[in-house]
Amino acid sequence: MQTRRSFLAAGAGVAASRNAIRLIADDGSGQESRTLREAGAGAADVEVLLPCDRVPLSFVIDDSTCLVNMGHFCTPQFAEALPARAEYKKPWRSWPREIPDDFVRRFGEWCAERGVRGKYSVVPYPACVGWVDREMPGWSRRQLQDSLKLIRELMVPNWDIHPEMITHTRVIDLKTGRPKEEINAGTMENSYPQEKKSVDELASYLSYALRILERCDLPCEGITTPGGFGNLVKSELSLAVDQAVRDVYPVEIPHYFKYVHMGDRSTEPIIEHLRGVGTDNLRLTVNVPAGTGDWFGGWQGDRMSEPDLYCDQDATTGRMVELIERRQPAVMLCHWPGIYSNGSEDGFRAFQRIVTSLETRFGNKTRWMKLSEIARYWAARELTRLNRVGNRLILESPFAVENFTFRIAKVKGAARLDRKLEKVSEISGLAAGTWWQGEQTQTVCINLQRGQTVLQWDQG
Ligand SMILES: [Zn+2]
Repeated sequence: MQTRRSFLAAGAGVAASRNAIRLIADDGSGQESRTLREAGAGAADVEVLLPCDRVPLSFVIDDSTCLVNMGHFCTPQFAEALPARAEYKKPWRSWPREIPDDFVRRFGEWCAERGVRGKYSVVPYPACVGWVDREMPGWSRRQLQDSLKLIRELMVPNWDIHPEMITHTRVIDLKTGRPKEEINAGTMENSYPQEKKSVDELASYLSYALRILERCDLPCEGITTPGGFGNLVKSELSLAVDQAVRDVYPVEIPHYFKYVHMGDRSTEPIIEHLRGVGTDNLRLTVNVPAGTGDWFGGWQGDRMSEPDLYCDQDATTGRMVELIERRQPAVMLCHWPGIYSNGSEDGFRAFQRIVTSLETRFGNKTRWMKLSEIARYWAARELTRLNRVGNRLILESPFAVENFTFRIAKVKGAARLDRKLEKVSEISGLAAGTWWQGEQTQTVCINLQRGQTVLQWDQG
């Protein structure tokens, strides 16, 4: 895998005007950011900030699909493949086989009213129970189609949809569409593959999963790996994401969720396998990590949630508070059975309390974003060239991006884009097409189009 460090070194040579940029290195960031800061020192009068100068929040939901409660159906399959683990001997028969659409609706509506955004998995052949594009034994065709319609209408506007591989349990033989015959750790997706695989082989597996969702009219810009899927082939997997997603969907910036970054490690997205910079064939994969553990009910939905680990009632302690104060993406993680909590909805109530607490203290300093939006912003932040010429700022971006925000020194008054940008009196009021005047600098927020954007100030 191309490391962040080697990308920065390569990028500095490619983007000639790059020395005009100084990305703000957040507190607690790694050495990589310092390298960039040093590279950019000298002409540092433009600094790219967070979108609207707010910390991105996102909610990653793993192990969701249509109707099937993955905790109930996965547990006996894991138990057979890995009989020694106590976790798989739990009383799965007593857990409901379904997470009902009524619950999806109440969850989705509650989130939509508060602007909560994130990622929602749809496992295409969940635990080998049935195919979401065809037949789900135990439910009628109509119930399956209604379930997909609910996801398309209620979830898609605010959530990225990812396949979480094909089954999240058994590895599928792509030639026959059937699970591999042997049952062991090596034929479970969570621990697949157990030897090196080529990028093409991995991409075929991902494409197979993506095509099932494509047949359901579900848009995807990325994938989620089940557990340790791809651990032996991390670099190949990242490149396979780019191939597979773009093979099935018209996507500019493929991304994936696999990693959790804890402690002092940066939670910023990582640009991987960047190539074709400066050409019409720019390619990359964005690795978007989560920044928390799953402290809701877990993948089996049988634990009590510990909401204070994310943030306490006053939002003064907890991992989300720590990340917001560090000004790094605060991406929280859960498993869908742990939000339903086998019908008690303990996880959902914990989540509501967390969202409400964060809103009360940090509502005007944060914004909820999909993982694809975070990936796009970081790709644009890293790859947009900014060139200051007198009272003009020329931005060259390989992608369109919303709410591109930067701080610029030595300008006065409103900049002109198509028309004059609008002044806001509080920095928390920043939105696309506005600017805020600080003591020494101006903070500007605009929607960038792909290609060149020129901003001009009347006075410098
Ligand atoms: Zn999972």
